[in-house]
Amino acid sequence: MAALVTACCIAGGGPAGMMLGLLLARAGVEVVVLEKHADFLRDFRGDTIHPSTLEVMHELGLLERFLALPHQKVESLNGRFGDVAFGADFSHLPTRCRFIAFMPQWDFLDFLAEEAARYPNFRLLRRHKATGLLRDGGRIVGVKVKAPEGRLVIRSGLLVAADGRHSELRAAAGLVPTDFGAPIDVLWFRLPRLEGDPHQVLGRFDAGKGMVLLDRGDYWQCGLIIEKDGLEALKRRGLAALRADIAFLTGFPAARIEALADWNEIRLLSVQVNRLSTWHRPGFLCIGDAAHAMSPIGGVGINLAIQDAVAAANLLAPALRAGRVDERQLAAVAARRLFPVRMTQRIQVGMQNYLARHVLGRPGPTRAPLPLRLFARYALFRRLAARVVGMGFRPEHVRIG
Ligand SMILES: Cc1cc2nc3c(=O)[nH]c(=O)nc-3n(C[C@H](O)[C@H](O)[C@H](O)COP(=O)(O)OP(=O)(O)OC[C@H]3O[C@@H](n4cnc5c(N)ncnc54)[C@H](O)[C@@H]3O)c2cc1C
Repeated sequence: MAALVTACCIAGGGPAGMMLGLLLARAGVEVVVLEKHADFLRDFRGDTIHPSTLEVMHELGLLERFLALPHQKVESLNGRFGDVAFGADFSHLPTRCRFIAFMPQWDFLDFLAEEAARYPNFRLLRRHKATGLLRDGGRIVGVKVKAPEGRLVIRSGLLVAADGRHSELRAAAGLVPTDFGAPIDVLWFRLPRLEGDPHQVLGRFDAGKGMVLLDRGDYWQCGLIIEKDGLEALKRRGLAALRADIAFLTGFPAARIEALADWNEIRLLSVQVNRLSTWHRPGFLCIGDAAHAMSPIGGVGINLAIQDAVAAANLLAPALRAGRVDERQLAAVAARRLFPVRMTQRIQVGMQNYLARHVLGRPGPTRAPLPLRLFARYALFRRLAARVVGMGFRPEHVRIG
């Protein structure tokens, strides 16, 4: 069987894995990233690049090149919750970019892959699926891989599982996340965007329904929030009833909503909120969704994955360059990142529960909760909301390279 040796092997070429690969390569660490797919061109998986990530791109000296790629700038999030208008205003953030950049995730990942490929110590192996762990005594010393040309083993000083919310490596390492439950699901689909439509993220919650619209240039990426496992019941009501709900929430004329012609155009996001309390084993670390699946509320999953990568690179690059990472250093990554993950999930779970208990499936006028009324009333609260969404708790900065 073919064998490879590297200082760090990262399983998963999503936002967490590609950013960690780039940062470690830039810091002089020999790194291999495994991605089971041939390319990054996949279904919609969110495309929000928040101010905290843009700040990281600036710190890497990549911001100008990155913003030369096609994207939409969103400077505020706006919506109505029953009778209350709410928003988050990014214009006062203490960062270089006071906006969210909307860019297809595959463009973002292609960009990271191209930048990382400038370093001879970086290797991205596409169509390479991590299938199991290599162990030596109590330590994980690498990974078994299914490659187009056959089976392969990669021996590594550190194996990072950045293989997403269904992480198989996490399970193989015996790490089990605590599930916090999610009483909602999201249906994603597109509607045409026309001249004169606003350039914003819009949201509306009323009369038992809720929806967000993301500006994607010539179309709106729409997310309809439904009760957990509620898709089958919606299908029984029929597409016409769903279109009527969408017309009510968007205010778009029926003709525009006819563009949604078939249930096949709708993708279900089964919402999960979970996290590991221990992120590591000797020689092994989980980051990104593999360590914590986030609710879509606030659209922060990509950015938390990036922040994990920055923290991991800052804390581990010197040890990886020196040849061996110990458990104490791995534990330090989780210790640093658990606080922002916990705080963000706490807010998300509170909002999800409110939606499920007081909004979804309850016809009649929707009443906004007191905190939202305060946010609507005072600019200071709107700025605070923008800070939590745009920067997150404990933003990371690139300190190596
Ligand atoms: C429909 C949908 C909409 C979303 N919307 C948003 C949004 O608007 N904003 C936001 O911030 N977040 C959003 N998210 C969440 C966001 O996509 C994730 O939080 C983020 O991508 C996590 O990054 P990651 O790198 O940890 O994992 P992932 O992005 O899941 O990447 C994991 C990678 O590992 C690869 N992989 C898996 N198993 C293996 C294996 N065994 N071997 C090799 N490779 C493997 C996968 O192919 C994938 O490329 C959305 C998610 C979904 C599903």
